[in-house]
Amino acid sequence: KLFNELQELKGNIRVFCRVRPFLPGQGAPNTVVEYVGEDGELVVTNPTRPGKDGLRKFRFNKVYSPDATQAEVFTDIKPLVRSVLDGFNVCIFAYGQTGSGKTYTMTGPDGASEEDWGVNYRALNDLFKISQSRKGNINYEVGVQMVEIYNEQVLDLLSDDSSQKKYPFCFNFLFLYSLSFFTSCFRFTLTLHTLGILSTTSQNGLAVPDARMYPVKSTSDVITLMDIGLQNRSVGATAMNERSSRSHSIVTVHVCGKDMKTGSVLYGNLHLVDLAGSERVDRSEVKGDRLREAQHINKSLSSLGDVIFSLASKSSHIPYRNSKLTQLLQSSLGGQAKTLMFVQLNPDAISYSESMSTLKFAERVS
Ligand code: ADP
Ligand code: MG
Repeated sequence: KLFNELQELKGNIRVFCRVRPFLPGQGAPNTVVEYVGEDGELVVTNPTRPGKDGLRKFRFNKVYSPDATQAEVFTDIKPLVRSVLDGFNVCIFAYGQTGSGKTYTMTGPDGASEEDWGVNYRALNDLFKISQSRKGNINYEVGVQMVEIYNEQVLDLLSDDSSQKKYPFCFNFLFLYSLSFFTSCFRFTLTLHTLGILSTTSQNGLAVPDARMYPVKSTSDVITLMDIGLQNRSVGATAMNERSSRSHSIVTVHVCGKDMKTGSVLYGNLHLVDLAGSERVDRSEVKGDRLREAQHINKSLSSLGDVIFSLASKSSHIPYRNSKLTQLLQSSLGGQAKTLMFVQLNPDAISYSESMSTLKFAERVS
């Protein structure tokens, strides 16, 4: 319901704000971020300017209190997720500084039980279950890809090649694949995971480069795939120290449905994006790899902001070409596609200035 009401607003972009709770052992809570009421309002206090002068109010489509559960969050986005089965393209992002709960929202805490599952597990599981329940009327295929963008390179997280091949963006090559996908949609079931890329959309864009796609046929497939993806992500992390906070990870769910009465076929896809940490890096303090990473992150996050801002302000030129992230997601940003940004915040005073820059980013795109 929430989404239908918001549909007419600002293109198809919504912003939900989630404030992380204080963690055990974090000391006496001194919060600068306060959640106010049911109506999507948030108040932030400048810790160096107590009193009225230091207050700033923000309004988003939804603001969660720190005790909001994973299940509550998913209930709110379920209609959006399910619209993929009706042929919509949907992007859900988590944006915020490192430690603000992006991964918690999208994936869940480490070793999550079903109750703690984040959006990725829940969305995949829900799509697979609903698609099963429509069997006979509409027959669906659900496939999953997982990639990571690190230093403007796209890596396949579901590849069984542990050296993590780099996939160049080769559009001619992908175009051929996209044609073969269109003609073979209903024959892909068995060969799905050997085909590589199969992703096209109704907006004739290519969603994901040549990354492996696996079918989802059960809840345990969901868990297995997420495990492989997370494992591949952390393999990189030991080698490069917490790389996950400096890369974007994208889980893409492809849905292809055939209406058994009319024979018509629809495609939808859902991108679930855990963005790199948005914290600013002090250029005077970092050099080499770290600086390069920071520059890539800056560029891709600001490109994402520019794209969403241009879409929201109905600009005639949408600058998709400026980063891999926006290139990759082009077909699912704009047009009929629906976008949701989770804006993640730390509640503490130390994070005040990062929280403000996160909120300003969110304000610009909402
Ligand atoms: P990020 O991915 O933005 O760097 P994480 O998701 O890793 O941040 O969150 C940082 C820490 O806070 C983790 O230990 C995580 O489990 C915890 N955390 C984040 N959000 C919540 C929440 N809503 N409820 C409970 N713990 C949370
Ligand atoms: Mg994370």
